[in-house]
Amino acid sequence: MSCGDAADGVDGVDGKKAEAVMPKKRTVRRIEKGTCQRCRESKAKFIIRSAPYCTPCFELNVFSRFTRQLYPPLHPPQPASSTKKHNSNNTLYRPARRSSNVLIAMSGGAGSIAMYDMLSRGGYVGTGEETKVADITKGEKEIIWEKGYVVYVDFSGALRAGTGGEEADVEWMRRLVEDRGMVFVALRAEDAFDPSLAERLGGVRATNEDQALAIDLRAAGLPVHPIASTSTTSSPLDKLQTLLASVPPPSRPSILSCILTSLLNTAASSLPNISHLLVGETSTRQASRVISATASGRGWALPLELASSMSLPNGVVKINPMKEASLKEAAYVCRIQRLATRNFRGWGKAGGDEKGRDSRGKGGAMSIEGLTEQFIAALDVTHPATVSTITRTGGKLVFPGQQDQEELCPLCQLPKDPSALEWKARTALTSLGKTPKSEERDPMSSTGAGGEAQIDLAPLLCYACLTTLTPSIHAKKEQAEGTVELPLWVGGRVKMGREEMKSEIRDFLLEE
Ligand SMILES: [Zn+2]
Ligand SMILES: [Zn+2]
Repeated sequence: MSCGDAADGVDGVDGKKAEAVMPKKRTVRRIEKGTCQRCRESKAKFIIRSAPYCTPCFELNVFSRFTRQLYPPLHPPQPASSTKKHNSNNTLYRPARRSSNVLIAMSGGAGSIAMYDMLSRGGYVGTGEETKVADITKGEKEIIWEKGYVVYVDFSGALRAGTGGEEADVEWMRRLVEDRGMVFVALRAEDAFDPSLAERLGGVRATNEDQALAIDLRAAGLPVHPIASTSTTSSPLDKLQTLLASVPPPSRPSILSCILTSLLNTAASSLPNISHLLVGETSTRQASRVISATASGRGWALPLELASSMSLPNGVVKINPMKEASLKEAAYVCRIQRLATRNFRGWGKAGGDEKGRDSRGKGGAMSIEGLTEQFIAALDVTHPATVSTITRTGGKLVFPGQQDQEELCPLCQLPKDPSALEWKARTALTSLGKTPKSEERDPMSSTGAGGEAQIDLAPLLCYACLTTLTPSIHAKKEQAEGTVELPLWVGGRVKMGREEMKSEIRDFLLEE
């Protein structure tokens, strides 16, 4: 209300007169800081991107950003002739019901709990027993997936945590999932070494695909040779801890991240009739991924990792619907819904032999991932646009390779940089010794001293995984373990012919 206008009430009685006395000024829309800018009625409780929102409007805002990422990959691909704008409008309505199931990845963090909550409250996932078709004219909402599986991967064995808190965490997540009619599946990080995992999940035991491999981390070419998985008596947990102990501490989070990816892939292909895998990676986590992946030389396949959807090697489509919500917003959603969360990851402590940090916060082993996470969290306090600036920049990245001509790295299962070894040889300050060149030497043909088939793993790895498995120069020779066993999926990937890997990558990217 400007000073020239008549006050409310007065206007109704003598409005014309008031207008005649003083010419009406152009009304300036003022944003009341205390009022929600969407409904303009309720008191604002949250300020998101410098706009105030009341609680219901805030939830609606997050939910609309959630569906904007979730819906488009669930629609059939649009014909190439239609324009992009037309495309995006067409794919924003609720997708049709499909006869498959969905796998939801849950870490217990705010991102995945908020995603799970919005999925179950939105009525997207059925209980597997719905036969009735929803009547949309009566306002009923049709489900998208017949049944939902929620998978949680427990890393406490790898972190040697064992404080007892993990079991309680698993229990509250199990209750949360089962109360809403979905199936809870708990896995452990060491299951990556368990040949019966797929069978346990209800799939077919992959006898001819997975192959136990032992790797010699001391040689520059990283030679691997097949071993019988029954030949060793050590448990999967022992194998995981040996592997983690024999790589430098900053490499351990990368290995754990590869294990998580692989276990989710195995669960997606072994559980019955899964068509989609949903992960709740918030924009805050993506921002830290952009920086840490670039710093550790994982930039080649980074655009694929940041995409809101991608097709996995097993044909399942992975969707990240939380891409546009920050960790803080996800935490608010959980707070409003009174859901517990557990944001502690602790991958920096993996391996167990880390020395404590001193009082200045220095010392101890820190990974690039851990440092980046701390850096972004600290900078975001003083500069609230940090996360959105980084993710906007990351969103502009384009995958540089040819989609149908890339090989997959056997460790991270992402397309690999074509010349990782030569690049590393050029940039390294120290000599790597006998560096094999990938073109000159066929990695499949060499044999070990004992006459058994031996393969150099180094030429097959991407730049970042090559760095992950290269032992630290400070590591004493006698301390470094000689040969250690690799997780089972690596063997399967190495065994798979190069041609087969190339054909798998063909439909890696989906149309956005
Ligand atoms: Zn409102
Ligand atoms: Zn890799």
